Amino acid sequence: MLDLLFPPDCAGCGRSGGLLCPACLQAIADLQEQRCARCALPSRISLCRYCRSSASSLFALQAVALYEEPLRSCIQHLKYQGVTRLAPFLGRMLAASYRRHHLQADLVLAVPLHAERECQRGYNHARLLADVCARELGLPSPHSLLERVRATAAQARLSASERQQNVAGAFRCQPQKSQSVLRGRTVLLIDDVCTTGATLEACSSALLQAGAKQVQALVLAIPG
Ligand SMILES: [Zn+2]
Ligand SMILES: [Zn+2]
Repeated sequence: MLDLLFPPDCAGCGRSGGLLCPACLQAIADLQEQRCARCALPSRISLCRYCRSSASSLFALQAVALYEEPLRSCIQHLKYQGVTRLAPFLGRMLAASYRRHHLQADLVLAVPLHAERECQRGYNHARLLADVCARELGLPSPHSLLERVRATAAQARLSASERQQNVAGAFRCQPQKSQSVLRGRTVLLIDDVCTTGATLEACSSALLQAGAKQVQALVLAIPG
């Protein structure tokens, strides 16, 4: 109702005409070039050279698009400016990408924020995305299974190896609940952006340790 009286500016381009205008919605293009199924970097073969020779706890990693405008602004609005109404748009993009890449999971989990950070922000943006995606796919999303037990420094300014150290052991599965829910199941792990994959890997390790059969990750954006 309020939107009818005061149409919101588009989170992508700033012009008035809806929360995400048709032009921006269309501009968030699916990744076209061939990419590695495990790290999502450009690769002409399904597993890139690096992934073929290194162990990863992630079975698959896919992204909706590159971390470019207008998606970049949308993610920032969702994450830092409280525009949680963007979650349905972006969550549906995740679900479409899941289908397009033939991912196959039994349940959906978001990369958790530390309780303190979630309290400050008032919500976990990844969880909002995961909830929409799970609803679209008809899958359960028992978020309380996975928690961030250690507050970690912001990853943005760290190198790849610092990132890995920063998040190592930062996640844990709830011991009582996880056994029955995770055993033999494939988890779809959702986050907004994946830079080096260190956070997704750390979550994935915790899930596998708690009995999950396989972890597939899906993010909105990866760096170009
Ligand atoms: Zn726009
Ligand atoms: Zn790879």
